[in-house]
Amino acid sequence: MPDASQATVNRLPLYFRVLSSFAEDGYRIISSKELGLQLNITPEQVRKDLTIFRKFGKNGVGYYVQELLNGLRDIMGLQYRWNIVIVGTGRLGIALLNYKNINTLGFTVQAAFDVDPAKIGKKIAGVYVHHIDELAKVAQSCPIHLGIITVPAPAAQSAANNLSAVGVRGIWNFAPERIDVPETVRLVNEDLSIGLSRLSYLISNEYCERDEERGENLL
Ligand code: NAD
Repeated sequence: MPDASQATVNRLPLYFRVLSSFAEDGYRIISSKELGLQLNITPEQVRKDLTIFRKFGKNGVGYYVQELLNGLRDIMGLQYRWNIVIVGTGRLGIALLNYKNINTLGFTVQAAFDVDPAKIGKKIAGVYVHHIDELAKVAQSCPIHLGIITVPAPAAQSAANNLSAVGVRGIWNFAPERIDVPETVRLVNEDLSIGLSRLSYLISNEYCERDEERGENLL
């Protein structure tokens, strides 16, 4: 596996999204400058990010959009069809079940799980909601590669244990709880509040600069 920084890895899906929309608009070639503008980074950073993985693009020409898209799909493992389950079919779980982009990216949500009798047996966005006790049975009928945890924090570790026990390779955890997983399981913790805090940081710095220019301190 190439020695890419976390920041570079985090940018890969952004490159993919930007390139997909350039492809939809009929672009065949794109420069590092155009890509950098879309991602708010320098052309040098774009070139540095992409050469870590393989030699994309041609000097003086740019990147062939389709070639780069195929390469990124390959690097991110999106050429595989990963099966996902969602544990916790509440507000967030339902929002993710309705998020069509998950399918477009090559993931298939095979099943959802909950403990609430009012939800079990229902279909949400075409996906059947099972009792969590049925996870092992569902995993026997179809391999589950990834699990998404959208249960309340106190139930998160048990959800992770259940998922690990059926052999998932990765867990995307939305619960605000530190969870332990076996070494064989990759864990990504998601926190929407980080995006908001980053925005707050950005705008408060702008405020400070403006206040300094005006000699005021509004904060
Ligand atoms: P919710 O209460 O609407 O839904 C939680 C669901 O989990 C319920 O349907 C409940 O019956 C089910 N559940 C409880 N214990 C379970 C278990 N052991 N196994 C299976 N299902 C179980 O909550 P929500 O608003 O959808 O939030 C879900 C989680 O996501 C919470 O932990 C919340 O803090 C978190 N959250 C995270 C972010 C983020 O950015 N990471 C954003 C919003 C919510």
